[in-house]
Amino acid sequence: MSEAMNALVLECKALARAYQLGPQQVPVLSDVNLQVARGESLAIVGASGSGKSTLLHLLGGLDQPTAGQIFIQGQELNALGERKRGFLRNRTLGFVYQFHHLLPEFTAQENVAMPLLLRREKPEKAQALAADMLDKVGLGQRLKHKPAELSGGERQRAAIARALVTHPACVLADEPTGNLDRQTADRVFDLLLELNRQSGTSLIVVTHDPNLATRMDNIWQLEDGVLRAASN
Ligand code: ADP
Ligand code: MG
Repeated sequence: MSEAMNALVLECKALARAYQLGPQQVPVLSDVNLQVARGESLAIVGASGSGKSTLLHLLGGLDQPTAGQIFIQGQELNALGERKRGFLRNRTLGFVYQFHHLLPEFTAQENVAMPLLLRREKPEKAQALAADMLDKVGLGQRLKHKPAELSGGERQRAAIARALVTHPACVLADEPTGNLDRQTADRVFDLLLELNRQSGTSLIVVTHDPNLATRMDNIWQLEDGVLRAASN
């Protein structure tokens, strides 16, 4: 199926993940099924230790499942070789973490340009696109600032700019506002939703904040390794 015809950006079937601890197999996720449509925003909620980060890492191809399948734009992730998997991930997905993971020795603009350079974009073009994206997230006046010279909220906005600069089909965010005060968290979340609506980017956000979760199209709850649709 062509990418254009596939309305599902991301899908997983019977996904399971267990960790081997010494002689013991500790199951974390069992039989997780999820479909994410183009442009959909969804929250994954659940208690600490319920497997939210594990699930997000699996969906993003950063970890390997014990069983089950993951499809990105209709392509089965783990049926691909390392190189093709990296290519698909790089072209289709954007990641935002609880801690920004910006590189400390580089400016905001250089950090945001990085994913474009990895895709072999010309340096001048990459810097220009990075500047545009930083302007969009309200950091047009902070291009030459290094992460240590930005506030917590500004760093998260720079991390969002970095995730979105490649125009990914889907952004995976793991407690992207978990480290911010209420007001800043709300503002960063507004920004994510605004970009989701503007550009049709699907958005998967792990959060333990019910106020934020209710602002998404759909909410899923992880409990005892099982993912269930929760009402919104
Ligand atoms: P959450 O993000 O919902 O807080 P995690 O996905 O980080 O939960 O972790 C889920 C469970 O898996 C926890 O019980 C955690 O201890 C366990 N776990 C996570 N990573 C590992 C690992 N690398 N090895 C063993 N157990 C792990
Ligand atoms: Mg987590």
